[in-house]
Amino acid sequence: MLHVDRIRRRRQRGVLVLSVVLALVGSTLAASPAFATHQGTAGSGRLYTPNWSVCNAGASAGVSGTNWAIGQINPTDVNASVVGCPGSWNVSVNSVSYPETWYGATSCFTAVQNGVCGSGKGVKLNTRTLTTTQQWQKTALHELGHVAGLGHRTVDTSVMASGASPPVSQYLDQHDRDSINASY
Ligand SMILES: [Zn+2]
Repeated sequence: MLHVDRIRRRRQRGVLVLSVVLALVGSTLAASPAFATHQGTAGSGRLYTPNWSVCNAGASAGVSGTNWAIGQINPTDVNASVVGCPGSWNVSVNSVSYPETWYGATSCFTAVQNGVCGSGKGVKLNTRTLTTTQQWQKTALHELGHVAGLGHRTVDTSVMASGASPPVSQYLDQHDRDSINASY
């Protein structure tokens, strides 16, 4: 039920803690969030629209990494721009320290129906585990891929593979771009 990109294997205690954290965040916006599992397609669904208004907040490294990631995803059929937060947004990216070992996490703020997240989506980037510019960029783009509905890949040539970069690519490959364009 829960999507995280982990450094180590999931620990049940950590899952519970993260669920509480994300539930609290989600409750300020809508109903409890639905979490992704990401096998083939994102369990958090794809955002209902290709027109993304991104609230990009938190640590400067995360804001920079997210801006880089937006530049990577905009050549697809997604049209993402950064807006103020608080404000009118449908994607929230927050880069703060979470007390767990994952790099990033993505959720839909409401239940996913027919593979579509009909509300906003939340992305969390962890300042506690992300250290290099490449890791910030890779993780931000990976999570934005989940916002677009992409699931995980098992090839290091795609940013949608889980794990550290390097060896995992920090870029979308053609398969990823084609998948985004097919869904929108
Ligand atoms: Zn992932």
